[in-house]
Amino acid sequence: MLLPYDPSSPNFKSAIRTIPGYKLDDEIPIRAMVFESNAIFRLPEYLELAGAGAENPLLVVVDELPIRRDGELLKPLVVDVLTQAGWNPTTIVLKPHDEQSLHTDLYQVRCVQERLVPGAAVLAIGSGTVTDVSKHASYLYGQESGLRVPLVVVPTANSVSAYTSNTASVDVGGVKKTLHSRYLDVLVCDVETLASAPRNATVAGVGDILVAFGSFADWYLAARVGHDKNYSGLPRTLIGPLDEIFGRDAEELRNTTPYGTALLAELLALEGLAQSLANTSAPFSGFEHSISHLLDMMVKQAKQTPILHGTQVVMLTVLTTLAFRHFMDEFNPGDINLDDCFPSHAEMQARVLEAFAFLDPDGVIANECWGEYRKKLDLWHAQRETAQAFLDDWEMIRAELQTIVRDPADLVAILGKMGSPTWFEQLDPPMPEAQIRFAFEHASFIRSRFTLGDLFVFFNWDRDRLWSYVWENARLLAAQTR
Ligand SMILES: [Zn+2]
Repeated sequence: MLLPYDPSSPNFKSAIRTIPGYKLDDEIPIRAMVFESNAIFRLPEYLELAGAGAENPLLVVVDELPIRRDGELLKPLVVDVLTQAGWNPTTIVLKPHDEQSLHTDLYQVRCVQERLVPGAAVLAIGSGTVTDVSKHASYLYGQESGLRVPLVVVPTANSVSAYTSNTASVDVGGVKKTLHSRYLDVLVCDVETLASAPRNATVAGVGDILVAFGSFADWYLAARVGHDKNYSGLPRTLIGPLDEIFGRDAEELRNTTPYGTALLAELLALEGLAQSLANTSAPFSGFEHSISHLLDMMVKQAKQTPILHGTQVVMLTVLTTLAFRHFMDEFNPGDINLDDCFPSHAEMQARVLEAFAFLDPDGVIANECWGEYRKKLDLWHAQRETAQAFLDDWEMIRAELQTIVRDPADLVAILGKMGSPTWFEQLDPPMPEAQIRFAFEHASFIRSRFTLGDLFVFFNWDRDRLWSYVWENARLLAAQTR
């Protein structure tokens, strides 16, 4: 694989220790990551590598979805492979327990945890939910019993980076939380299984990687204004030059060739590791994700059909990379009077509550947003000297940003080659400009995470000029791909 850091290489873990920003006491306990054709037929070997034994209980965790691999049902096939090799697997099927579809919550986690006994190992076959439930159940069991549970994961779609992260995204009392969890022991990416997944899943995976064209820069900005102490160049170095990788291999990815399928699985594995090593999702979740979260809230309120997350965030990344371009070209610290850049709590509270009043009649959502936004505003007020340093150091910061932000034209060209939408009218359903503009201009108010969107607010940026630059250039770039 033509990646600077190849997760399937036996030297991977020692190689990444030399990347600047790697904390030397961070040990990744993952024993192997496999990206191969017919990998599922070697599962007995990988289970042993994880520390499981054929004589011990093996729980196979799945959901109800029938997954096909080259036309054949995957889950019965895996059970067959194991049984013939002398293992005695017990299957646990996760089922929805409320009116919602299956999702990761503590109920599901407890269902798996209760079935664990000393010596047992877990084999998870599925996507993000099955992985997170299995991961967190074996983590909690390990915490409570002091016993290590060997954990092997077979992803059924190249859709998320959750497989290799040491966190789990769990619904706790209706609120999605990222909980500290554990790493898996062996990741088994079977190329035929991943290539058989619906195209939507692949599009989602690609989209969530390509946000890095803009999100690395948001993370850098957050560090420069004193809002994130975890920043390092590690995630960017670890995942490699995405513009070159995707520019070269977009068609392999689009056609889910064995090479393209393994490549995407490797990139998602690197993304999960990068977030774990950085201790935050920030490197892959910046301004574009704030806009996307707000759009989701608006779409839900209007009872519209939501756009697939990966497709939505990558389209928004075209806008945010253009916004970075605009900011880098136009920002002049000499124009800024810092006294005007620290709006009062009362002023901002009124702005947030007014902006989001339409989302629900009792103002619960608007108040929740204000609660999050307020944390960011507090920190901004508390660090005025850091804002001053940002102005003083702008030339150096701009030079650094120019190396971090990737070219929006490259991004749109990649989307074109991938056969993905490049313009909002091509989305299904099409998304109107007014809706996107509202989300773009108010995204900062829903989250405590600092991004470029916050600088536009604090520096009282000309919103009409910004929007026409971003929107018109995005439209031109999209027109060039047709
Ligand atoms: Zn995302």
